Amino acid sequence: MIIDDRHYDIIIIGSGAGGGTLAGCLSSKGHSVLLLERGEAVEAGWQSRPRVKDEQWFGPDGDPFSPQTFYAVGGNTKIWGAVLERMREKDFTDLPLQEGVSPSWPFDYTHLAPYYDQAETLYRVHGKAGVDPTEPSRTKGFDHSPRAVMPFLEELREGLERHGCQPYDLPLSWSDNDGDPVGDAELCGLAHADSANLEIRHKAKALRLHVSPSGREVKRVEADVEGEIWLFSSDLVVLAAGAINTPAILLRSGNERHPGGLSNSSDQVGRNLMNVQITSILQRSAAPNSGRYPRSYGVNDYYWGDKNVTFPLGHIQAAGGVLQDALFAESPPVLSLVSKLIPNFGIKRLASRTVAWWAMTEVLPEQDNRVWLNKEQIRINYLHNNREAHDRLVYRWIDTIKSVEADPAIKVVTSEPVHPRGEAPLSVVGFACGTCRMGEDPSASVVDSTGQCHDLDNVYIADSSVFPSCPSVGPGLTTIALALRMAETLDKRLEA
Ligand SMILES: Cc1cc2nc3c(=O)[nH]c(=O)nc-3n(C[C@H](O)[C@H](O)[C@H](O)COP(=O)(O)OP(=O)(O)OC[C@H]3O[C@@H](n4cnc5c(N)ncnc54)[C@H](O)[C@@H]3O)c2cc1C
Repeated sequence: MIIDDRHYDIIIIGSGAGGGTLAGCLSSKGHSVLLLERGEAVEAGWQSRPRVKDEQWFGPDGDPFSPQTFYAVGGNTKIWGAVLERMREKDFTDLPLQEGVSPSWPFDYTHLAPYYDQAETLYRVHGKAGVDPTEPSRTKGFDHSPRAVMPFLEELREGLERHGCQPYDLPLSWSDNDGDPVGDAELCGLAHADSANLEIRHKAKALRLHVSPSGREVKRVEADVEGEIWLFSSDLVVLAAGAINTPAILLRSGNERHPGGLSNSSDQVGRNLMNVQITSILQRSAAPNSGRYPRSYGVNDYYWGDKNVTFPLGHIQAAGGVLQDALFAESPPVLSLVSKLIPNFGIKRLASRTVAWWAMTEVLPEQDNRVWLNKEQIRINYLHNNREAHDRLVYRWIDTIKSVEADPAIKVVTSEPVHPRGEAPLSVVGFACGTCRMGEDPSASVVDSTGQCHDLDNVYIADSSVFPSCPSVGPGLTTIALALRMAETLDKRLEA
């Protein structure tokens, strides 16, 4: 075991949306930061890659699967769709869903709004305010206009508008790097880092946290760095390893004083796992397209309900090209749908004849949906809830696209009796959240409203595991906004 002789102000574990953003901010404010990242830096221009093949997690029946998660500087933001949406005002409140009440956050939208502003600027979000009917209040528009979408999608958008929908340009993060155009936590979150204050250790997998005799303070972080065990020390420690690995580290850090894992007096570490329900729905395009283009516009007309439906249904997104969008490329069960659309075609030809949509519906936190450890194995017990709302959204959207297909003015899609659709399987865990939830009650939550662990004086969590509820829009921008907010808190604490 090697003991690092340097002492840092702060150690951050994980360099994704939360950790990368936080490390960039705190190092630029003059604090010494050690960033432990289990992956490596990836080449510029690289945006999609097979699932993690060297790791397996285990599902409810003990069956192994390869998770769609990416270990690298930037984490999952290296393969994300870069759609950076704000949660809506009501998403922060007790929100009745069809199957129960989605719990409130310890603060409201107005509290997070200034950090959303900062997050959009930092991640160079391109968008257009004032079109999406569910858009939360904003004090300013986007700094960058949306980029042009593919012409066939533009024609489809006009068709949707004629049929009463209100499609809006998805807010998308675009970097200023021509070689690596999609914004991510490496290119944007770490963009303003002060390299004099930031040390990044690659291939450094944090294993466990070692606590002081009082049990209230973490003294060392144990990590496997390229096969050697190291111990690192700092004043503050931030876990930002994502909603599966952060609880795994806390559970693995158990000792005599904390037999159920660190910061787990509430028994909530790993529980309340939420992963938005995602179904892909396919249309057949009349003319070939490249199969390689980014996500473009969304429809939130059913976000809060529908005719005669008073509970939220969710969000619709025009998916990226089937050959580019990692949610497809990494998910054979979803990809195989394409072959149902046009049998006996090669995959590239299939992709070029497809227009794909994502239907996304939030789920409720449940105690039994959880991450736990079986020795060193990561086990995931998970069953979606709020399913009827999701089914309604899917059928509603199929009705909508059928009516557009029947419109003689629309030439870019063909009218089909069947629209293949498929749910993302358990391995598509990229939107996971909730496993170390935030709340004021230490007996029912893991961190307080600042992200500090209730049970530990110097440990914080800065990733999507702190979400008390799971919005139907992606968690990326909210994770970034929370990290920017935490940067202020930690800066003050370190300055004090
Ligand atoms: C294919 C795909 C598409 C997506 N598209 C969108 C989208 O369009 N919009 C959106 O809002 N969200 C999207 N998401 C979700 C989004 O990427 C996540 O919500 C976001 O990245 C979560 O940030 P995080 O900081 O919690 O975790 P991550 O960004 O996953 O970062 C975790 C980091 O911790 C590192 N790590 C893990 N374990 C350890 C360890 N033991 N020691 C050291 N380092 C460790 C990882 O390598 C990684 O760098 C997508 C996800 C995927 C997979």
